[in-house]
Amino acid sequence: MEQHGKLLWGILVGALAGAFCGWFFGKEMAAIAWIGEFFLRALKMMIIPLIIAAVISGIASIGDVRKMGRIGGYTIVYYLGTTALAVLLGIILVNLIQPGMGVSMLSRELPQHVSGAGTVGISDIVLSLVTTSLVKSAANLDLLPIIVFSILFGIALTTIGEQGYTVTRFFDGLNEVMMKLVIWVMYLAPVGVFALIASKLGAAGGGDAFWREIASVGWYVLTVILGLVLHFCILFIVLLIFTGRGLDYLITLLRALVTAFGTASSSATLPLTMECAAEAGVDKRSIRFVLPLGATVNMDGTALYESVAAIFIAQAYGIHLGLMDQLIIFITATLAAIGAAGIPQAGLVTLLIVLSAVHLPAEGVGLLLAVDWFLDRIRTTVNVWGDTVGAAVIEKYFLRNGGEAFSGRYAD
Ligand code: ASP
Repeated sequence: MEQHGKLLWGILVGALAGAFCGWFFGKEMAAIAWIGEFFLRALKMMIIPLIIAAVISGIASIGDVRKMGRIGGYTIVYYLGTTALAVLLGIILVNLIQPGMGVSMLSRELPQHVSGAGTVGISDIVLSLVTTSLVKSAANLDLLPIIVFSILFGIALTTIGEQGYTVTRFFDGLNEVMMKLVIWVMYLAPVGVFALIASKLGAAGGGDAFWREIASVGWYVLTVILGLVLHFCILFIVLLIFTGRGLDYLITLLRALVTAFGTASSSATLPLTMECAAEAGVDKRSIRFVLPLGATVNMDGTALYESVAAIFIAQAYGIHLGLMDQLIIFITATLAAIGAAGIPQAGLVTLLIVLSAVHLPAEGVGLLLAVDWFLDRIRTTVNVWGDTVGAAVIEKYFLRNGGEAFSGRYAD
């Protein structure tokens, strides 16, 4: 515990020092980018075995397919509900603040990962649940089909009786080993977060250049940040009301939240999120099932950002959006956030779904590019916070109530 307190301070100091160095030393900080990359790779190296082991052992320990279905259903409803809430908040704020009015329309080139993404439709989101090859998905850190497979595997495991015992014990053990490795990797976080922030801010040209970029779309940045901060607080209230947990929980989770800010990836942060939630005493079943699912499909921050961004673009182009258009944005932004991968700037790509649904020009994304790396970090932090609040709520209400979920065969 004491150790982890020190580590939290280390990560916070790392983040601040990173911002300071990136601000003042600018592009020179590129020299330490490899240190951040090392930390990022070490985290990513954990993800696949951890997710497979966690989800399979989590599901197997719930034991009963019907119980599993109920918990899964509640989890999805909770995630959808909070995501929709975030979108609604974004829509209200962007209509009130009107950040797009009077923005200068400098056309900028779309980067390859956005323009090359082609048109992404709703059917692509459904298709992304399955894959032609699990190995290929694992190699690309394409987590959704791997989670779907692990869930199905876990469910099947609970139906084959004695024959499944050894398999379940194997995945239980693998999960424990992976969590041990995650603790080791966590010690790299202070230096890793420092290097990631310093090199990214440095690459953006240092403090002055960054400030100029922010100023050009200042109201937009302000609207997104205000929305994200408000949603963070709303989730905190949800946590308080539904679980009785409060500041202690937030503080224990801070290591994961700062790492989310540093890496801009909820998937890469997942190992730390799971470790911190375990330390906060969240039930294992909730950690192993709710968190991996959340890291892939539950992105409140991204959803809020997408609704603000789409309407901001419309305002900047002087295109009026009626109530129906805003409703379409509400629905598509919710779905687009679900479809976004937990990797840096994935939200920028799925934003195209929202734009095309209401016939807004894709080039509008060019307006957001310069500041997106920064907003991405804040929305990723909110994404991870949303997952962890979800894990605590689901645990409290659907696992602990009556303790019935503990009757799983391997409950410990
Ligand atoms: N970077 C975000 C995440 O990993 C996704 C996004 O909004 O771009 O959660």
